Parts: sequence; C-alpha cells; structure tokens
Amino acid sequence: MKSKIETIVKDNLCIGCGLCESVCGKENVQMKLDQTGFYKPEVKQIQPEGEDIIDAICPGKNIINEDSYAYEDRIWGKLLKTYSGFSNDKEIRYAGSSGGFISGLSVFVLEHNLVDSVLQVGGDINDYERNELKVSKSRADVLKCASSRYAPALIFDKIFDLLNGSNDNYLFIGKPCDISGLKNFLAQYPQFKDRFKLTVSILCAGQPSFTGTSQIVDEFNAQRPVKNLVYRGSGWPGYFSFEDKEGKAYKRTYNDSWGSTLNRHLNFRCKICPDGIGLQADIAVGDAWETNDGYPDFDEKDGKSLVMVRTQAGQKLVEQALQFQAVSMTEIDDGKIAIMQPYQYQRRRKVAARILAYNLYKGKLPLKFKNLNIYSNLRYESPKQVAKEFLGTARRLFKQ
Ligand SMILES: Cc1cc2nc3c(=O)[nH]c(=O)nc-3n(C[C@H](O)[C@H](O)[C@H](O)COP(=O)(O)OP(=O)(O)OC[C@H]3O[C@@H](n4cnc5c(N)ncnc54)[C@H](O)[C@@H]3O)c2cc1C
Ligand code: SF4
Ligand code: SF4
Repeated sequence: MKSKIETIVKDNLCIGCGLCESVCGKENVQMKLDQTGFYKPEVKQIQPEGEDIIDAICPGKNIINEDSYAYEDRIWGKLLKTYSGFSNDKEIRYAGSSGGFISGLSVFVLEHNLVDSVLQVGGDINDYERNELKVSKSRADVLKCASSRYAPALIFDKIFDLLNGSNDNYLFIGKPCDISGLKNFLAQYPQFKDRFKLTVSILCAGQPSFTGTSQIVDEFNAQRPVKNLVYRGSGWPGYFSFEDKEGKAYKRTYNDSWGSTLNRHLNFRCKICPDGIGLQADIAVGDAWETNDGYPDFDEKDGKSLVMVRTQAGQKLVEQALQFQAVSMTEIDDGKIAIMQPYQYQRRRKVAARILAYNLYKGKLPLKFKNLNIYSNLRYESPKQVAKEFLGTARRLFKQ
C-alpha cells in the first residue's frame, strides 16, 4: 500500500515544494529530481504522524482560503487597489521580470527595516537545476534573485532549520501555491506566524520541468555545462539566455522560449490550478502586458508590473514605497486586468470543469480547495466550453 505522500505524488498533485521533507525528516522523506525533471519526495520510511500532517497541509492538494469574497471579485479575488508600476532603481527594473516591482519593494522593506530578511527563490549561476529559497538581506542579495525562473524550485525543504536558526521576521515571495503552502504550514505551526509580516505572490501560469530548460539548451547544440542561465530579465519581457562551456552567449525571446517550449512541459497539477493569481497574498504581481488586437504585445520595452493589492498591510507597504520614491505606480481600473492577463482570466472562469473531471476520474475527492469561487465562475461559460475543458482533462488523465 502506498503512503499518503506517495499517493499525492501518484495522484499527480505534487508541486515539489519540499514541505514533506521538513515535516517528516530527511531520514524518512527526501526530495529528489526525478526523470521527468521535477522535484518529488522519495519516501524511505513511512512516518505516520508526519504523513498525516502533510495530507492536511500539502499545497498540492490543499488550498484553504480563509477569506471568502464578494460576487464582484469572482475572477480576481479580493482587490483593494490595482496598479501598473515599476521599480525606480533602473538596474532593478532592467533585471526584473516585468517592472522589477517585487525586487524594488524587497529592497525598500530591507532598507527601511520593515523586516529583517526577504525569503525568495534564487538560483545558482553554475547550475540551473538548483533553484531554492534564499534569505536576502541586502539590495545585492535581492538583485541576484530578481527575474522569474520558469522551472522547479525547492521552497520548504529546510524551513524548520531556517526558522529555528534565527529570530528574523520576513517578507515572503513565491508562486500562489507557495503562498498556500506557507499559509497551511503556519496554520499547523502557529508559533512561527508572527514572523511572516508580508507575502507577495507572482502570477503564475504553470511551472515547467527542467526538461523544458534542457530542451532549449539542446536546441542550440550548446556545449555543457552551461552557466548564467536566465529565463527573463534584461528588459521586458527580456530573453532566455545563457553561456556555454566556452563562454559563447545564446539567447531566445520570451515568446519563443515560454510560448514554444517551456509551457509544453508543465506540471500536471498546474493544469488544474484554481489560483494562479495569488489569492492568499497581501500583494500579487504579474506583467502589465499591453495588447495588440487582444494579444499581449511582446515587443521589448521598459518593464511594467501589474500590481494587485489585496490587504491593508499590502496597501500600506506600496504607499510607503511610493512615498519614498522606491517605486512608481499608476492606479488602473480592475476591468483592465482581464485584458492584461487573458490566460489567467480564462483559467479562472473554466478551471472548475477540469477539477470536476479530475475528481470524477479519481472517484474520490483528494482536492481540498476552499473559498476559491471556482464553481460559481462556471456559470459564465457556455456548456460547450465547459464540456471541452472537462473532456480535455479526462482525456489527459486517461492517457496517463
Ligand atoms: C513559473 C512562472 C509562471 C509565471 N506566469 C505568469 C503569468 O501567467 N502571468 C504573469 O503576468 N506573470 C507570470 N509570471 C511572473 C512574472 O514573470 C513576474 O515574476 C512578475 O511580472 C513579477 O515581475 P517583477 O519584475 O515585479 O519581479 P522581479 O523583481 O523580477 O522578482 C521576481 C520574484 O519572483 C521570484 N521567483 C522567481 N522564480 C520563482 C519561482 N520559480 N518560484 C517562486 N518564486 C520565484 C524571485 O525570487 C523574485 O522575488 C510567472 C513566473 C513564473 C516563475
Ligand atoms: S508537501 Fe510539497 S513536496 Fe510534499 S507531496 Fe506535497 S507538494 Fe509534493
Ligand atoms: S500554476 Fe498553480 S500549482 Fe502550478 S506552479 Fe503556478 S501556482 Fe503552483
């Protein structure tokens, strides 16, 4: 019989966050990069108590939004204000994924002593398969982590070591499922709650495997090992770029790297993700795409981030950052978000059909998604669309 953690993996719900290694202990559960290019837990020995906890807090199967929200926010969740913005630090804006807004805010909170550290994902310039949670304490640390890594990242595999090793308080940055993982973790271990002062979520359309990255490197016939690999940044939307063994540089546009290769290597769990928009964060940030004929315009420009403020704490922070001229912001109408983020808009409307197909196929209800307003959104879709989404997921599951 499979353990609870192995069942989560078998059910294709694992997003590789590493929480189970921390909760069960490395001697029992260890994160490993598997042959599909994702981090997955390997259960060496069942630890029943830890497995029960993971069953209740694993973000792959549990998203428990404590705030139910109003009808008019049915797509985007709770919104106090929405802005288009960027960091006023030119180097950060250029290095950031969109407007460098998140990195700009991070430097602001550190330099004004609003928190002791920023917890965020960073990589290793010599090995693109080593994305992990870093503790940033300075502008230089934050700059190293700027820009999106369209690949797996270990987030919680060392969370107890980190929390027990200092008394710092934090701004935590992650994907929406990382924010859910953090909230679930803090509900289980409330002794750490006060140390997380603020959360910022990136918008997320899905996490590609390392196989996606590797495929692009191979398509260039580049000599390995490669280094300085980045997925974006150096402009907006910026380039996928790296250097080969001899130091020769390669680059590919965002549209060609994400649109043609990386998004074909997504984790299954991302296909049924009900929250790519950071519903549980204080602030959610994505690209403030401009559009041409309804499609995002990927011509290179100065970066602009879409900033969705969800809580009073988030609002206070962005206003302080504005006052100290760390960032620039222009308020935008909430109605514009759907134009800037067409994929997220469509996904929020239709995802419940995929989730229904998943639950029916499994014949049990492994997913605990609470207060996400997904089923009521189906009302706005035509029966044909609902059927298409439902059957697409059923077909994918059947093939697997
Ligand atoms: C897998 C993935 C999918 C995305 N999908 C969308 C989308 O559908 N729509 C959209 O508008 N934007 C998406 N983005 C986010 C977008 O690329 C930018 O991160 C966002 O515009 C914020 O830009 P910024 O310039 O303000 O952030 P920056 O200042 O560049 O900061 C980026 C922050 O993201 C963190 N980060 C980078 N990679 C990861 C990762 N793999 N996991 C967790 N944290 C990470 C960094 O630590 C940094 O703090 C996605 C990003 C990723 C990694
Ligand atoms: S806790 Fe994280 S790593 Fe463990 S099974 Fe769940 S998603 Fe996967
Ligand atoms: S799409 Fe959803 S589940 Fe997948 S990485 Fe993004 S937030 Fe996590």
